[in-house]
Amino acid sequence: MTPTLNTSVTYLKGLGPQRTALLAERGITTVGDLLSYLPFRYEDRIHFTPIARLVPGQVATVRAEVESGSLMRFAHRRDAMFHLLVKDDSGKLAARFFHGAYLDGKLRPGQPLVLHGKPSLDPNRPLRTEMINPEFELLRAGNGSADSTEVGRIVPVYEAIGAVSSRILRRIIYAALQGLTGDVADPLPSGVLRRYAFPSRREALIAIHFPPHDADVETLNEFRSPAQVRMIFEEFFLYQLGLAVRRQHEKQQVGIPMRVREERIREALKRILPFKPTGAQKRVLAEIVGDLEKPTPMNRLLEGDVGSGKTIVALEAATIVIENGYQVALMAPTEILAVQHYLSARRTFAPAGYSVDLLVSGIKPREKAHTLERITSGTAQFVVGTHALIEDRVTFAKLGMVIIDEQHRFGVLQRKRLFEKGAAPHALVMTATPIPRTLALTLYGDLELSILDEMPPGRTPVETRWSAENQLPGVWEFVRREVGAGRQAYIIYPVIEESKLELKAATAEYERLSKSVFPQLKVRLLHGRMRSDEKDDAMERFRRGEIQILVATTVVEVGVDVRNATVMVIEHADRFGLAQLHQLRGRIGRGSAKSYCILVAPKSITGEGHERLETLVATSDGFQIAEQDLKQRGPGEFFGTKQHGDVAFHIAHPLRDHKLLELARGEAFALIADRAREPEMKTLLAYLGPVWQKRFQLASVG
Ligand code: ADP
Ligand code: MG
Repeated sequence: MTPTLNTSVTYLKGLGPQRTALLAERGITTVGDLLSYLPFRYEDRIHFTPIARLVPGQVATVRAEVESGSLMRFAHRRDAMFHLLVKDDSGKLAARFFHGAYLDGKLRPGQPLVLHGKPSLDPNRPLRTEMINPEFELLRAGNGSADSTEVGRIVPVYEAIGAVSSRILRRIIYAALQGLTGDVADPLPSGVLRRYAFPSRREALIAIHFPPHDADVETLNEFRSPAQVRMIFEEFFLYQLGLAVRRQHEKQQVGIPMRVREERIREALKRILPFKPTGAQKRVLAEIVGDLEKPTPMNRLLEGDVGSGKTIVALEAATIVIENGYQVALMAPTEILAVQHYLSARRTFAPAGYSVDLLVSGIKPREKAHTLERITSGTAQFVVGTHALIEDRVTFAKLGMVIIDEQHRFGVLQRKRLFEKGAAPHALVMTATPIPRTLALTLYGDLELSILDEMPPGRTPVETRWSAENQLPGVWEFVRREVGAGRQAYIIYPVIEESKLELKAATAEYERLSKSVFPQLKVRLLHGRMRSDEKDDAMERFRRGEIQILVATTVVEVGVDVRNATVMVIEHADRFGLAQLHQLRGRIGRGSAKSYCILVAPKSITGEGHERLETLVATSDGFQIAEQDLKQRGPGEFFGTKQHGDVAFHIAHPLRDHKLLELARGEAFALIADRAREPEMKTLLAYLGPVWQKRFQLASVG
């Protein structure tokens, strides 16, 4: 039979039941899936480096044969090191493999192989080069060059899938491509192919797995060959097309158009404003107002660094909705934050006389019943709460808008359930994770995006430094001085109770700090597992200045706003992620007094932990920090894949390829907007459905 992309991989030679099962675990069941498994690197195996010409420190590929190999067991460990000696016409090369027991008996003298790695000088024999843990591949005995998938070409290197090595993958993918005589459907519209001079999908697949002889290895390894560019574009295009479809669907929904141009409403907006808004706040409010007026529901993401003043923008939007006779719900991820929003909304809305209610799980049953009743009857105009808002028994009389604060803390379903409390309410989701615009487009491309890129006036930048653990006495002395000058301080720990890890736990440290370090000061503990009334009490007293030092975990990470707090000490700072440290630091520097953030870490820290601290010391720009974080961790981990839906791109990388992303987005949205191209769309959508299901479970409010 002639295999097509839909043929099951079981028809391929060299794939028994075991390997098939391993592939299936990775979602590879058809030839098409297999061909979508792309190389992450390429090796030039046309031009091997002769051993004699290896340069220490320069990665190279060597073709050689085994001279000898031996396993050395360590006396006190179960571990073993495999020593290998190989030779080519020009000389000999040593290689050492840690945990090398698996190689014992596999590498017989005379066995031809390819080694890829970074040579260094062998410390024991100064004239010999060695490679530590090089990648290697055995060639068929005899004349290796006879096998065209292994040498004599630019060779693709795949990430092994369990026991299915790069080499096996290469062979079966090669076979699949050879047999692929049927049509390869191309999802890219012909106009797009022409405009960008892209190769067809079929050509691209062949060239991406087995690049032509004259291809440039460096270009390939930068993912910039024509075939790679096309496949990257395709991935973005399909993804954006899905977003565009979703957005179009939302636009057809009937929402609640709000009146905004009346004098009465303008007056109300002015009345509640406690300060002069920044230019960015005005611009964003205008964007929101534009949405609220429309007959389709608003679907907007408000992005702004910590402290950029998102809350007041949200409350202004709420004012419009309430003046139109509808209710507004604001959901926050923690009770502490919900309470804070509740208190600040009460203050802000006092001149307007709107009712403000709080719904969190910590309130007394009778109070709760009362609040539920007010929500159902429509008496409650502005309701602030936590997840308690999405419980079944919460029914709104007339929900006109939902606001979600710190949206990245909620799952897709939780957000969706809140929207379903009304009939197509307007939605404003806010995040303090300042994602670069291009990335926001990738992830939330079905939302409109507003960015608050200006800080309210009167802020003095936070001074950040990092301090070794043995300098803590000096740090405490500094805290004492600041508190003596009337300020307040946060001291942050990564865990609540003492654990096996030698992290200082908040509870134990609280005991110690309050008894022996700051005996004359008012110190309180705050962590997520305390009872709600205790939490509220601690937070409220800190806000009122009755407590001087708050010893806390990351419960204060989001949203907490106490202007008089000017010092934050973060112990074990190297254990936190970059974005998290930035969020924590955002708790200070909120007033006009100078603030200080002191990151405490072991004196000896190195590597990424150290880099993170240096980044924080160097900049307070959330966008820069987010970008840095992304580079260090990659998009998956950055977003915490669970909550953000797994945006599983095979080859595209939103940061590296942001230009292609923008092009693809433009093409996808243009296609959807063009009625004349509807027939074209139909075919595409049929193609798109399964791709979306399999790969993109997008986090979206829809
Ligand atoms: P975030 O964007 O992190 O949620 P908030 O909305 O909590 O920030 O605002 C941070 C602080 O800045 C609050 O104390 C708020 O009252 C204040 N603020 C916001 N906008 C302005 C402004 N235009 N002028 C002065 N202060 C402002
Ligand atoms: Mg906030």
